[in-house]
Amino acid sequence: MSTTELVKESASEMARQLRAKEISSRELVQAQLDVIEAAEPSIDAFLHVSADQALEQADAIDKRLAAGETEGMSELAGVPIAIKDMIVTKGIPTTAASRILEGWVPPYDATVIEKIKAAGLPILGKTNLDEFAQGSSTEHSAYKSTHNPWDTERVPGGSGGGSASAVAAFEAPLALGTDTGGSIRQPGALTGTVGVKPTYGGVSRFGAIAMASSLDQIGPVSRSVLDSALLQELIGGYDRRDSTSIPKPVPPLAAAAREGMKRDLKGMKVGLVKELGGEGYQPGVEARFNEGVRLLEDMGAEVVEVSCPHFPYALAAYYIIMPSEVSSNLARYDGMRYGMRVMPPEGVERTAANMMSATREAGFGDEVKRRIILGIYALSAGYYDAWYGSAQKVRTLIIRDFEQAFEKADVLVSPTSPTTAFKFGDKMDDPLAMYLNDVATIPANMAGSPAMSIPAGLSDDGLPVGFQFFAPQMRDEVMYKPAAALEAALQEQWGGPVFKDLKAPWLDGLTNGSAK
Ligand code: GLN
Repeated sequence: MSTTELVKESASEMARQLRAKEISSRELVQAQLDVIEAAEPSIDAFLHVSADQALEQADAIDKRLAAGETEGMSELAGVPIAIKDMIVTKGIPTTAASRILEGWVPPYDATVIEKIKAAGLPILGKTNLDEFAQGSSTEHSAYKSTHNPWDTERVPGGSGGGSASAVAAFEAPLALGTDTGGSIRQPGALTGTVGVKPTYGGVSRFGAIAMASSLDQIGPVSRSVLDSALLQELIGGYDRRDSTSIPKPVPPLAAAAREGMKRDLKGMKVGLVKELGGEGYQPGVEARFNEGVRLLEDMGAEVVEVSCPHFPYALAAYYIIMPSEVSSNLARYDGMRYGMRVMPPEGVERTAANMMSATREAGFGDEVKRRIILGIYALSAGYYDAWYGSAQKVRTLIIRDFEQAFEKADVLVSPTSPTTAFKFGDKMDDPLAMYLNDVATIPANMAGSPAMSIPAGLSDDGLPVGFQFFAPQMRDEVMYKPAAALEAALQEQWGGPVFKDLKAPWLDGLTNGSAK
């Protein structure tokens, strides 16, 4: 199989070829490194490529596979993965795409990274993001903007645009992201990839750089629903090092996805969220979404409309709670402990406080500073109840909306993002327009419940549209079944995955290259 054919396969197909000894992990990793080299000049998804470590890990896995020592290994053993640079990796620079962490090489691994290493997945490198995961386009990275493989003049979404673009551009079959308000799902929608935000507490946050701790969650990015299921099973589970980790086993996600592929949804009730659609949603997005709903119906699901009357307030409440937590979490970047230190300018007294402000002034970008200022304001004495207190009440109402909706339906659906990918610069001068990207994704973070985005096809502009599923807390398997069913039905219509329509000129030079 040529490099070009191999890297377009799903992670589970790569895993099958590995187990059948048709390819080795080293060959697979090398093929992905070749694509990364060819694609990066036009995509810019990676902040750091850890080629040597990845090849070393691949060799170790090949040895274990050859010796039949597969104990503790995942079904995905040998398949490489890219990691959002918001997740701490021992010995590999970790920056959160911020200048303030430039040059920091962590002395420890996040829990999810420990699990990935133990399961035998070589790490290709660290992917770009909006600084400290704050944004919806990846343009707020302090280092560079990532391009959307479907149209390199456009953004890939954010904050996890690097992970989404890496997977969409065939640079990696799998990636990890973090989702605080939609940073896995919205880039998933804009790049045609599958992106999952697991139940809050379902995947350990230990070693995920904190943005807004009550909302942050690590989750998978892939090109198929089954691949995300396998990856979430691998990274999920209780961790005593995360105080909000839920002491329950990971639900049977891959089994649910495989069940879904049979395309029989009889007995399942699908709730259409009335408030997530209509005004502000691009017609091409609504058209693909409605077609998806009809396919679910064709497979036997009963579609009902549900109302979540407080969802329209989710975005406003999020922009109180999130910055409040950001201002507190980012207080640790003080020039003392890690990363950058800037001494006060000539003539200014060399005190610790002056060093801290000089460091934070130079180290943080404008969007991060905006949120720190908003958060400090929302938490200040006299305003605390009016702002933070009210936002927390809205949060409770959103949780109740979900509870009531799940009495009427097993799974809820909506478009993932109101629009397809926009052009660089389009929303940079208008923070509110940027924030509105997340109207449909934020409710799940506010409630701590799981949600995922899968590709629903291309809009009239030729750009991918995302279809979102929501499930009840710790019932992540409930969304994997209809998601896999819809994916299978759509792929039958298209005659293959959505990516068959992606022109990937960076692969052209590799066509003759062979991974044996
Ligand atoms: N785009 C949202 C924000 O800017 C979501 C961020 C995220 O999920 N990390 O806050």
